[in-house]
Amino acid sequence: MILLLIPVALLAVIVGVNFGWQWVLAPLLGYAVFAWLMGSLRALTVDSRDKAAIEGGPEPVSGDERTLFWCEECGTEVLLLVRGSARAPSHCGQRMHERTEILN
Ligand SMILES: [Zn+2]
Repeated sequence: MILLLIPVALLAVIVGVNFGWQWVLAPLLGYAVFAWLMGSLRALTVDSRDKAAIEGGPEPVSGDERTLFWCEECGTEVLLLVRGSARAPSHCGQRMHERTEILN
């Protein structure tokens, strides 16, 4: 890879000196923007369902504890039956708070 950079850098210097540095800097800037855009789009394709599959898939919660998620904004409570991922669900535009009760 480093051996490929030496002739590319020489070619960039020749093009930059003879034709102007905009012909060297503009493709570099274009490549940087394109690489950033593709990385951002790739991150969007991995959603929480894929993360749960990587972590081992959904697993039912154990019977000796009860996990509730409650919304601070409106007071809605959700009982957790099967845990798909470690992230708390959202309600009213924000993350719900987790409360685990140990049953006897
Ligand atoms: Zn809410």
